[in-house]
Amino acid sequence: MKIDVSINRNIKIKHCEGCGLSFASSRWDVRYCSVACKQRAYRARHPFQIARRCACCGVRFMATRRSTRYCCNAHRQKVYREQKKLAALPETGLE
Ligand SMILES: [Zn+2]
Ligand SMILES: [Zn+2]
Repeated sequence: MKIDVSINRNIKIKHCEGCGLSFASSRWDVRYCSVACKQRAYRARHPFQIARRCACCGVRFMATRRSTRYCCNAHRQKVYREQKKLAALPETGLE
């Protein structure tokens, strides 16, 4: 079986970059044992991003967390300080 030999010659034992498991592959560019491992590694390299509008200045930005509401730390702190200032007022008249 000539064909089988030529294929087997190319098969190499690889270590999955996702889970570290050993697996056999005939392709030199395969780095993961499964699609699941490949996807997990992809997600790790490309963190979750969501389009958001800054609650302070209104600029559009990409947030990496669902809880992120500001385009930068400066704006987050600015709003935080303003809210603190309002809370510190003895009579707000909001009640
Ligand atoms: Zn794996
Ligand atoms: Zn902003």
